[in-house]
Amino acid sequence: MGRSALVTGGNRGIGLAIARRLAAAGDAVTVTSRAGAEVPGLAVVKCDVRDPSAVDAAFAAAEARQGPVEVAVANAGITRDQLLALMSEDDFGAVLDTNLAGAYRVAKRAVRGMIRMRRGRIIFISSVVGLLGSGGQANYAASKAGLIGLARSLARELGTRNITVNVVAPGFVDTDMTTALADDKRAAILASVPLGRYASADEVAAAVAFLASGDAAYITGAVLPVDGGLGMGH
Ligand code: NDP
Repeated sequence: MGRSALVTGGNRGIGLAIARRLAAAGDAVTVTSRAGAEVPGLAVVKCDVRDPSAVDAAFAAAEARQGPVEVAVANAGITRDQLLALMSEDDFGAVLDTNLAGAYRVAKRAVRGMIRMRRGRIIFISSVVGLLGSGGQANYAASKAGLIGLARSLARELGTRNITVNVVAPGFVDTDMTTALADDKRAAILASVPLGRYASADEVAAAVAFLASGDAAYITGAVLPVDGGLGMGH
């Protein structure tokens, strides 16, 4: 029997690859996006993770369609890169609100059903940047580092309820987010990645599927890098 899964930002990029992989393994998957446009083969709910009532409604829709959510993947994220001196309150706040508080809202809503079921998997999509830091990305790095503290606290809180909370920390992945980078920045990044290439979204999805699987039942509070060796040792 497939499980009920929800992936935020599952309409494109890494989130879509995660949703497709879970669905291919037999899970019933609902994805969220801000526009709510159709995604072939997947159920879609419109949801802005900055709005707690939208997160609540997305879970309610997923529950009505496929039962209580057993696998929740907080993937939705944005960048607003800027040097600190030029960073606005809005640049900082929007990134923290989406990437970190959005994941908090997803986890908070998800555990309601998981505690009742006495099982669940929560997975946050962080970034190698949360471990290494990155000039011009203080807001993004802070949000992604924050996910690790959030996950580890929840792992401690929820372990006896048979709910695991883990983090996947991708390096550079070929998606809309990285095609926005300038060519010289792309080349500099590639030079620092031991495997010498970007990840595919599906390679990140494979790590998420593992953490969501029965094989990862005894793994909680972990940070699993999928970064070609970029963040080694952190
Ligand atoms: P994309 O820019 O391709 O997609 C971002 C996704 O997040 C979209 O589905 C988007 O939805 C959604 N989203 C953004 N803001 C909100 C919001 N306020 N509410 C709901 N959904 C929102 O990004 P990636 O696929 O590359 O990234 C996915 C995750 O992986 C992010 O958390 C990112 O930080 C992380 N990551 C990415 C890396 C990379 O190299 N690409 C590396 C490390 C981590 P919509 O279509 O509606 O805009």
